[in-house]
Amino acid sequence: MDLSLRDIAYCKGVGTKRADILRKELGVHTALDLLRNYPYKYTDRSRFYRIADIENEDTSVQIRGRILEWHTLGVGKGQRLSATFSDGAHTIELVWFQGIQYVKLAKDTEYLLFGKPTRFNHEYNFVHPDLTPMSKVTPEMTQGFEPDYNTTDKMKRAGLHSKGLRTIIASLIPELKQGVNETIGLDIRTKYHLMSLTDALVNVHFPKDTPSMHKARERLKFEELFYAQLQLMRQLKQREQNPGYLMPVVGRSFHHFYEHCLPFELTNAQKRVIREIQADLKSGHQMNRLLQGDVGSGKTLVALLCALLAKDNGYQTCIMVPTEILAAQHMETLSHLLRDTDVHVALLTGSTTRKQREPLHAALRSGETDILIGTHALLEEEVQFANLGLCIIDEQHRFGVAQRSRLWYKNELCPHILVMTATPIPRTLAMTVYGDLHTSIIDELPPGRKPVLTLHYSNQRRATVNQFIEQQIGMGRQIYVVYPLIKENENLDLADLQNGYDTLRQTFPQYSISMVHGQMKAKDKEEQMQRFASGQTQILVATTVIEVGVNVPNASVMIIENAERFGLSQLHQLRGRVGRGADQSYCLLLTRLELTKDTRKRMDTMVATNDGFKIAEADLQLRGPGDLEGTQQSGQVLDFKIANLATDGQLTEVARHAVEDVLQDDPLLESDWNRVYKQRLDILRLTSKSWQGIS
Ligand code: ADP
Ligand code: MG
Repeated sequence: MDLSLRDIAYCKGVGTKRADILRKELGVHTALDLLRNYPYKYTDRSRFYRIADIENEDTSVQIRGRILEWHTLGVGKGQRLSATFSDGAHTIELVWFQGIQYVKLAKDTEYLLFGKPTRFNHEYNFVHPDLTPMSKVTPEMTQGFEPDYNTTDKMKRAGLHSKGLRTIIASLIPELKQGVNETIGLDIRTKYHLMSLTDALVNVHFPKDTPSMHKARERLKFEELFYAQLQLMRQLKQREQNPGYLMPVVGRSFHHFYEHCLPFELTNAQKRVIREIQADLKSGHQMNRLLQGDVGSGKTLVALLCALLAKDNGYQTCIMVPTEILAAQHMETLSHLLRDTDVHVALLTGSTTRKQREPLHAALRSGETDILIGTHALLEEEVQFANLGLCIIDEQHRFGVAQRSRLWYKNELCPHILVMTATPIPRTLAMTVYGDLHTSIIDELPPGRKPVLTLHYSNQRRATVNQFIEQQIGMGRQIYVVYPLIKENENLDLADLQNGYDTLRQTFPQYSISMVHGQMKAKDKEEQMQRFASGQTQILVATTVIEVGVNVPNASVMIIENAERFGLSQLHQLRGRVGRGADQSYCLLLTRLELTKDTRKRMDTMVATNDGFKIAEADLQLRGPGDLEGTQQSGQVLDFKIANLATDGQLTEVARHAVEDVLQDDPLLESDWNRVYKQRLDILRLTSKSWQGIS
């Protein structure tokens, strides 16, 4: 019988009660589901250890030997059984705390001991090891690799520990060997040297040797990546067919601005990216494009030029940003750049008053407003456009996909979508996280930028840091001091910030200091920012509210307090606030003296490079893809069972190529084998949570 149809309850050794637990804890409903529950590691049962070989607590080991003597210690609950086990050369202690009465030991028997060593008082021992008399050891027990499975407490209580699962899965293997429905066509398997699904499932659980384990895992990883890419690329192809507003004209607004208002020559990268976007705008199909560019690479100007293109074709643009500060900043930048034009820009945020809104809404509906900048407030029902043609979403990782898709309902046709992000992510990860978008990259900074010099100090060097602050302000520069703000502990963090502010005021009574944090009223925040931006204050003390987008070219020093509490991409974003003017800029990372290995690596990476992509790569290695900034809310396919985007980048590329080939020949997946792909995609879509989030 087809294993994908066999209810898990009817598998040997399961039954209704355990089936319930498997469904709830693992989402396992059928025999095939259980076979798809892969081991997270293996123990090499073909290797026999000697006691002297034991060197860590991570690896289960097996040793042949005899029990020399045993005795019980303590009384009542504290009672335990201790035995001395010898492999002929050395001895090691075995300990039992529970079920002592059931432990049967004999002196004249040779045993096979199996278990994980524990370190106690500088010595290793075994707690509750498995002991099997050698006379009862079957050849299978000491062959190949033994799989270990993730389990939960609930599962363990029902006997569904790793060993229990192993027994159930082992009993399914004979049937499995008769074959399961293949999910990857023979042409692709041949081309990329992949195992059949049947072989892969047998060998992922019970590999006979190391190469077959690797081949099995590779095949299963490939399958996951292949279907993820297939899903994403099909979506991309379907979207490419969406009708979109036609914007073929490069007209007066664009030309006038380009020739008379542009404060500097565009970089080649900016020019290239604008050409790519322009091609989308005149294609007649809806644009879905991601614009990646490191902090300071000049994305704002690109956004503005695109908005002008839209205007020249009779369409409005909205620019959505994550914070009010950033919205205000964009408003100021754009108004300034557009001061000698007839382009109308408006600002709408949560703190726009009802009275201000009425004329604003009217100007939007009449089409008088060309560009609307704002926060989430843009998404409200009452905000209606005359002719919204382009949506630009800045710093996208703050917005979920659901919000992105809501923008689409503002008009008859989906407007063109341009997502801008300053969080570089490695290419192979981008392929998955943003696999449903076309990508443009600004890979060049405006000329004349001096790289920011990054230094790492421990808190004990505060005197040096203060001297440095004094010297820089003396040269006319301004300084950011940033404190981490972590949601769970907001009050404590704000206290940190307040302390820092007070200390700075005492240390530098001669300077003016601004302070900004997320709990302030928008108006106060803006006033404080304004004082800093206009040079009235020399120091800005802030939480990470300033992380995104703030632009004060005269501020050339970024001091990050408790830098150990920030992730790499956040540190990089913060550092991007400086280095925007002509002066040498600095980023000072302050941490405590004692650091964990990971923290040290993060600080070293920051000191070593300014390259956002290198930093993203390091971040990926340190934290794994799920925790990366930019991926958390992407709602994309990241819940892989066996593939790992941090380490399987190359295989992701291979899978992508395979998918490209398939879709090239048969975009609708109608031919024989491709119908199988299509069916499986439908099943995956129904059963996977994260796939449902895709808009
Ligand atoms: P980001 O990509 O981080 O949003 P911005 O758009 O804020 O970067 O640009 C950073 C700074 O670089 C701004 O002060 C902007 O005026 C300036 N800038 C942008 N493009 C150029 C250019 N081609 N040449 C010189 N300066 C530029
Ligand atoms: Mg920006």
